Formats: sequence, structure tokens, C-alpha cells
Amino acid sequence: MPMKAALLERLKQKLMVKRRELLSGVREQHANSLESGSDGIQDIADQATSAYTKEFLLSIGDAERQLLKQVDVALDKIRLKKYGQCERCGEKIGEKRLQALPFARLCIACQEEEEERRT
Ligand SMILES: [Zn+2]
Repeated sequence: MPMKAALLERLKQKLMVKRRELLSGVREQHANSLESGSDGIQDIADQATSAYTKEFLLSIGDAERQLLKQVDVALDKIRLKKYGQCERCGEKIGEKRLQALPFARLCIACQEEEEERRT
């Protein structure tokens, strides 16, 4: 059964907000080092898809970069209508889990397995 459109839309919004947050954090660091530039969040979104992306991504930490990537992947999946599926077992990721973690790639069971393997 496909995910409810309203829920999907809500999760998408969350992802967009998160993405903006991450990119604006980047922007601040960037602006500080440049001491100039126009302001406005609109800018960031535009620049993020341009050739500046690489430079931007270099100016943020690994954790943010990872997160940004996950958010982008999740947004891609929404576009491809594959959102909400576990990447490992293909099962649906729970609604509660997605609301807490809209960019989750694995269902809880697989996530736990992955973490066990890592430790
Ligand atoms: Zn799974």
C-alpha cells in the first residue's frame, strides 16, 4: 500500500527544512571566511545545486555532510516514489520511525543488525 500523500508531504517538508538548516550552517561558516557576499537563504539553495556544491561540502564537517547526503537521498526517493522502503530488506519503514527520522534508510530491524555488526 502506498504511503498516504499527506504524510509523505509532511515528511518531505521536514527533509527540506533539514536540508536548509544544514546548508545555512555551511553558509555561515562560508560567509565568515569570506566576510562578504549577499545574504538570504534562497541563495544557498541555488548555489547548492551549482558548481559551488563541492566547495560548500568541503567547508562542513563529516557528520553534516553525511546527513546532507542522507537527506538528499531521501528526497530523491520521494521523487522516485520509493520513499519509506528499507534499503536492505525492502520492507516498509514504520511511520513513527520516519517521523522521528525522515531520512532513515533502514527499517528498525535492519538498523539494529547493522549496529550490532559494527560493534
Ligand atoms: Zn529492513
